[in-house]
Amino acid sequence: MERRRSVYMDHAATTPVRPEVARAMLPYFSERFGNPSSLYSLAREAKEAVEEARGRVAAAIGASPEEIFFTSGGTEADNWAIKGVALRGKGDHIVTSSIEHHAVLHTCESLEKQGYRVTYLPVDEFGRVDPVAVEEAITDATILVSVMAANNEIGTIQPIRAIAEVAHDHKIPFHTDAVQAIGAFSVDVDEMGADLLAISAHKFGGPKGTGALYIRKRTRIGTFMDGGAQEQGRRAGTENVPGIVGLGRAIELAVAGMPRNAPRLAAMRDRLIRGILDAIPDTRLNGHPTERLANNVNVAFRYVEGESILLMLDALGIAASTGSACTSASLEPSHVLTSCGLAPEHAHGSLRLTLGYANTEEDVDYVLEVLPGIIERLRAISPLRGEA
Ligand SMILES: *Cc1c(COP(=O)(O)O)cnc(C)c1O
Repeated sequence: MERRRSVYMDHAATTPVRPEVARAMLPYFSERFGNPSSLYSLAREAKEAVEEARGRVAAAIGASPEEIFFTSGGTEADNWAIKGVALRGKGDHIVTSSIEHHAVLHTCESLEKQGYRVTYLPVDEFGRVDPVAVEEAITDATILVSVMAANNEIGTIQPIRAIAEVAHDHKIPFHTDAVQAIGAFSVDVDEMGADLLAISAHKFGGPKGTGALYIRKRTRIGTFMDGGAQEQGRRAGTENVPGIVGLGRAIELAVAGMPRNAPRLAAMRDRLIRGILDAIPDTRLNGHPTERLANNVNVAFRYVEGESILLMLDALGIAASTGSACTSASLEPSHVLTSCGLAPEHAHGSLRLTLGYANTEEDVDYVLEVLPGIIERLRAISPLRGEA
């Protein structure tokens, strides 16, 4: 019998740490374990490693090293950007989109409980935010506009530069969650017009629990984590030195590899999308047909449950996702898909396949070989089918 294949197509949820990254991190767990704040050579080594990583992150996004602040991940970076601006802002109104990651949405909801007002902008059927709608939502009380660079579920890329220009016309700072964008397309804080930008290492070959917030010079933002004087006195807590070293290596590799990697992934993405839509009736593509992440496939099959598809794929060694990993424990259809106007019966049958640099054409062949049979079998036993 053929050995069971193992195909990982859930890179939007997390990625394996690249071997080069793991190797770079290792010494900082053991022989170079010093606390960067201490005053001896062991500590200086750790401090230098942190500063070198800061330089790598800054170079990758067109920033200065003093504008990079390490955090415990993308979630903390988003929390800090939004709550930090709220702390120092002169108004009480925030503009964001209805399809943000929960790190942004739940942060905004938590501020609403404290009396802030939030506008959650609608998106079109492809998941795009209209810059004109941003303009219309801004009031004299608006202190922040926050729109993600690219969506983690449907892969839609936003017109970030145009949205940032609207915010800046009103002298309002602009935050973008760029967690899915790093390594997928060119991210430059000046070109994008970002004043705040969130990054997470584990989405591009780095370790979990490490990220960064870019803060443009002179942006008014309060501290979020109180304690010691680390990170220019703005983010307390002993630095996660191995994690930071890993983030620096991973972002450098991701950005350097992008020109070669992105077209290869986009070709596999398009082969998957075409293959699925051609072979399986009553199926639609979610997200934008062209303005989408090179590695993102998101399709909806009528009359089936996403969870059932995942279980059958898993039995064949394929790791994929329905909706987003953070919400897969709930029965609510994905907020992203419903915001795009998908009927619940479509949203429930969604499948996300996100590619990574280790995926091969054979992986694509395998998915295209087994998926039509899975959908056919599930539809044959579906109680949803008779209702239609
Ligand atoms: C994964 C993700 C986050 C959260 O990052 P963590 O490092 O896992 O906390 C935030 N935003 C987007 C778009 C993501 O994909």
